[in-house]
Amino acid sequence: MKIGFTTSFPVEVVIAAGHTPIDMNNIFVTGNAADFVEQAEFDGYPRNICSWIKGMYSVALSSGIDAVIGVVEGDCSNTHSLMSTLVDKNIEVISFSFPHNKDRKKLAAEIEKLEQYFKVEHSKVLEVKVRLDKIRKKLIRLDELTFKDNKVTGLENHLWLVNSSDFNGNPDDFEIRLDKFILEAGERKSINSDFRFGFLGVPPIITDLYDFLLEYNVNVVFNEIQRQFSMPYLENDIVDQYLHYTYPYTIFDRLKDIRDEIENRKLDAVISYSQSFCHRQIDNILIKKYIDIPVLTIEGDQPGELDARTKLRIESFLDMLKY
Ligand code: SF4
Repeated sequence: MKIGFTTSFPVEVVIAAGHTPIDMNNIFVTGNAADFVEQAEFDGYPRNICSWIKGMYSVALSSGIDAVIGVVEGDCSNTHSLMSTLVDKNIEVISFSFPHNKDRKKLAAEIEKLEQYFKVEHSKVLEVKVRLDKIRKKLIRLDELTFKDNKVTGLENHLWLVNSSDFNGNPDDFEIRLDKFILEAGERKSINSDFRFGFLGVPPIITDLYDFLLEYNVNVVFNEIQRQFSMPYLENDIVDQYLHYTYPYTIFDRLKDIRDEIENRKLDAVISYSQSFCHRQIDNILIKKYIDIPVLTIEGDQPGELDARTKLRIESFLDMLKY
């Protein structure tokens, strides 16, 4: 079965059960995203609701998905209503929660509930984790090729890490392509950029942001949430892995990771991206307060290219960094 999901969750369970995990965000943003949004609005989704939710709704209805796992705690409150509209369209939905207080027992119980739903043994899930961790180690190498060796662009880093949420539905094929990419990137000359940026927040709905930055000699060497999707900590225990994953918990968990990586990667500045109509915009108050390098906040709404106003803001920010 093809099992869609709304954000990263213990994907090991679905793979161990012999199903194909599909990150619906990835189908949305790499497909005809504007059409997906329009279709949801045609079905009544309001204009002032985040495009990702509308995109996932249309993807769930049009991509041959058999059931959807909705992360109803730790991601987005809109997911509750998304799930209701999918139930109404006869799509099976399964809920998963990351407990806000990081309660270990509760998270273990959520994973167990998922295992019971998919009728899969815990030992089998752990075997899959070992298999996926082998690929995750290679993603750490890819990340190092970005920030240590300067041989991978921010866009390439973003694409590989964001796709590790579901390994494009086929971990074996993902690994073969990743091996090839790492070999090829290792042979490249280093990128000689003027500034090393971090990208904070949910992956951008804007298609040309990384290319635009590179035109101005800026490489993104830290993709915060995309890296979180790749589960970079390689915890031995599956519950620890999903407790260490910062995205579903508080901004303070994210801030610790961000501050560590600003230092580790010697970043000059960060872009804090947020999506229009997203509650995570509020987190920017604390990001600006607790990060002590320059921060540019930008916002994306509809899928597509950078608008003139955002380009101008980026150019002004770069001028400010230069002088
Ligand atoms: S960007 Fe924000 S509002 Fe949109 S789906 Fe993600 S968490 Fe929800």
